[in-house]
Amino acid sequence: FCGMVAIVGRPNVGKSTLLNEIIEQKVSITSRKPQTTRHRIMGIHTVDKHQAVYIDTPGLHVEEKRAINRLMNRAASSSIGDVELIIFVVEGTHWNADDDMVLNKVSQSGKPVLLVINKIDQVKDRDLVLPHMKWLSDKFDFVGIMPVSATQGKNVDLIKAEVTKR
Ligand code: GDP
Ligand code: MG
Repeated sequence: FCGMVAIVGRPNVGKSTLLNEIIEQKVSITSRKPQTTRHRIMGIHTVDKHQAVYIDTPGLHVEEKRAINRLMNRAASSSIGDVELIIFVVEGTHWNADDDMVLNKVSQSGKPVLLVINKIDQVKDRDLVLPHMKWLSDKFDFVGIMPVSATQGKNVDLIKAEVTKR
């Protein structure tokens, strides 16, 4: 694989934490406060001949009342157009209208999409996540579905391996 990968999802799902974990450097600011990422932040991961440029994006969200929100939505949407692969990040425990919107956007992009279900460390009952995964995989033909914990670094290697082998 040689190319660009956009990390998209609604605010606060852990996109920036995931980017930092993938490239093993703190390039992107993470925060409990939504909308900390306001620009496109890039991180490069190289293995042998493979090189992936990961683009962290502001969270996509339905609310577009404030100009800054519209700008952030636009920044995230335009990233989708530029990449070879999309990593769609959702939370294992919460799903809302913003997630629906992102799902629509990525499925309309025509690009391959890897679904990452983050924050699995917060999932007490695995049986609650499985129907979620099933429902999502019925909605769209993802190139892969990966449950991860960005803060614990769990399964992040699987994402890198999946991207590299493409
Ligand atoms: P972004 O808005 O999607 O970029 O989200 P951030 O990366 O800034 O993370 C939002 C919040 O979720 C922060 O408080 C992170 O520490 C937290 N977070 C991110 N990944 C995980 C995870 O795997 N598990 C848990 N428990 N919290 C996480
Ligand atoms: Mg962020």
